[in-house]
Amino acid sequence: MALAQTPPPGRPESPDVRRGAEVCREHGCASPATLRCEYVDSHGQPCGTRWCADHARGMGEHRYCRRHAATVTALGAKGGDPRALPSVGNRGVSLVSWIFTEGHSTLNAAVTARLRPGEVLFEDGAVNVSRHLGGARCWEQGWRVGNRDGIVRRVALRVDENDDTMVSVVDGHTVVGRHVPPWIPRQRGGDQVTAAAGASDRSRFYALLASSVRRALAGPGLAERGRGAEADAGAHLTPSGIARRRR
Ligand SMILES: [Zn+2]
Ligand SMILES: [Zn+2]
Repeated sequence: MALAQTPPPGRPESPDVRRGAEVCREHGCASPATLRCEYVDSHGQPCGTRWCADHARGMGEHRYCRRHAATVTALGAKGGDPRALPSVGNRGVSLVSWIFTEGHSTLNAAVTARLRPGEVLFEDGAVNVSRHLGGARCWEQGWRVGNRDGIVRRVALRVDENDDTMVSVVDGHTVVGRHVPPWIPRQRGGDQVTAAAGASDRSRFYALLASSVRRALAGPGLAERGRGAEADAGAHLTPSGIARRRR
């Protein structure tokens, strides 16, 4: 995925200034909007935004807008399961995936630095959907640490359905850090920053996430919290979450 050319999730698309004229929604594009985003969320609500052939994202036989192409891609095999799909306007899945990918070198280094002899790291290859007890969904992507006894630790990035501006770092089910990506308030306020200032903000943000990851891994493991916690964490995972074995 060419993330370097893709703005972070949450960036507002340009309004269709010629409403009714079916102009592509991509900022600065005046081509006819001949394709409609085919995304339909878990409530049956369609996205329906319209794009030109250059700016609609093709996935197999389907066409999506930028956010929903990212959403469906990030969910991997679960992208075909309506129960996993966030509401049309919710950026939860694309945000988790974006941060996991863009911050990967910093975050993965924080995880691998804490590995003990005999431990193996498993990385989620896709975003997993999970439910809180109250029924609200959240989307997570992260790492599990295993040894000969099984999975002993799990740390993940999480965005809740009810607040898709906040990124939590979770240790099993426990939230150990909550951070708002710096570009979200800026986009909402319409603030412009230089590329250098933006890059510096992001690097600070990933350093903060990494410190939460280190804190998570320094705490007691799943086994030390008792078998209930371990079973809980296992129930939190879906099979497609186990995708890549890093080492
Ligand atoms: Zn276009
Ligand atoms: Zn869409």
